[in-house]
Amino acid sequence: MAALSKPFVDGLDAQVVRYQHCLQCGQAQTLARHACQECGSQALEWLDASGAATVRAAAVVSRAPSDAFRALAPYTLVIAELDEGPRLMGHADAGIAIGTRVKAHFFRHQERTLVRFAAIE
Ligand SMILES: [Zn+2]
Repeated sequence: MAALSKPFVDGLDAQVVRYQHCLQCGQAQTLARHACQECGSQALEWLDASGAATVRAAAVVSRAPSDAFRALAPYTLVIAELDEGPRLMGHADAGIAIGTRVKAHFFRHQERTLVRFAAIE
């Protein structure tokens, strides 16, 4: 699992959102998998996304699910659809609503780089 998602995690550390692109059918996915969700092909490559996205779901988390996130609560989580197609869950600035055009920014939390979406002016 760690090795499989390494390009994605390394991307975040370099402030880039990466996604898997299927060379067989063109499907794009953000969660690292061994095979394409759409056609099952294992011919996958990693591409850099622009970071621009549209919010498809948003929720305010007032009670953190783990100690690691307690210091951040309350915080906003969104599911954003990248312009390249795949959807990605990430933190977002407060007040971000469904339909908002956003861009991925990054922050360090407990030794990891996480995504925080901010509205595009
Ligand atoms: Zn495919």
